[in-house]
Amino acid sequence: MAYNQRVSGPSVESIQASTRFCAVLGQPIRHSASPAMQNAALDALGLPWRYLAAEVRPGDLPAAIAGAKAMKFIGLNLTIPHKIAALELADVVDEKARLLGAVNTIVFETPGPTGDWIPLGRAADGQITEVRGHGYNTDAAGLARSLKEDFHWPDLRGAKVLLLGAGGAARAAALQLAEEGVAILFLMNRTAAKAEHLALEVSARFPAVMVMLGLPRGPADLVINATPLGLNAGDPSPLGGLDDDWLKSQRPRRVYDMVYRPAETALLRAAKSAGCQTANGAGMLLYQGAASLELWAGVPAPVDIMRAALLKNIYG
Ligand code: NAP
Repeated sequence: MAYNQRVSGPSVESIQASTRFCAVLGQPIRHSASPAMQNAALDALGLPWRYLAAEVRPGDLPAAIAGAKAMKFIGLNLTIPHKIAALELADVVDEKARLLGAVNTIVFETPGPTGDWIPLGRAADGQITEVRGHGYNTDAAGLARSLKEDFHWPDLRGAKVLLLGAGGAARAAALQLAEEGVAILFLMNRTAAKAEHLALEVSARFPAVMVMLGLPRGPADLVINATPLGLNAGDPSPLGGLDDDWLKSQRPRRVYDMVYRPAETALLRAAKSAGCQTANGAGMLLYQGAASLELWAGVPAPVDIMRAALLKNIYG
């Protein structure tokens, strides 16, 4: 890149010696809209923090989290493929994240004046002594809120759902959907054993939910893609190449893709032409990000500003 080429985003002048950092760690990470959304929110809140994105290989995750902790970062988001591993790398884990089996947010904390642990984001500079990482999951609630809002569907109870994937985001989705009272959950994943394991777990925790493996027969109320397939042009279908046929013959009512870049994946395109309602993962990103920021900063997130920055970043 030429030295005189302008780079969009926060200006170099806005970074001072006193600036504090948050970051999202993942692989791949270049598609992430989180920096645009979170930096707009930090500016709106007048916080002297910057939000970064770093490509981190799975083997480097322990060192990356330890480094952020040593540098007194405010907090971290974890994305593909780190959410399950982060569960073991946080010093303490919130009960909901433990239940969901995945951590997408770490809040770095230090003992406050009364000895209780407080977020570094609310600690004065000289007050930071010991630091611990507190793991949370904001994905599950973010997904539920996005499904209800995007599909104008306030109550998921009784729904028949097909969930594609069995990684960190799918685990959180499956257990959240079960908590919301869906009736039947079909699971499909490249590594069948992981889908079987998740099915057993959901059944054990939510016996009222019927959990099955494979594709449903008859129309489902909702299909969710929780794999990264669709992120890159030419990716195979998360439905195993069955998109058009299965979508046209079974016509699920709603198809949700956690992928938000491109804004319309091949799955969503096929679903739309089959007559299904569709939504991408922008809403989930917005609400999980707003919840992460509230944990770090302890103040309400400026959701409208975050939404505007996110949509501008995704749709241009
Ligand atoms: P993860 O823990 O690494 O899980 C990835 C899942 O996708 C696994 O089930 C994996 O199957 C499957 N998969 C990966 N590559 C595949 C391929 N080439 N063919 C078939 N299946 C494949 O990742 P994650 O954190 O759950 O994230 C999954 C996706 O959701 C990512 O695209 C992520 O960006 C997106 N996401 C979006 C939001 C949002 O806010 N919109 C939030 C969370 C996640 P195996 O078990 O066989 O490996």
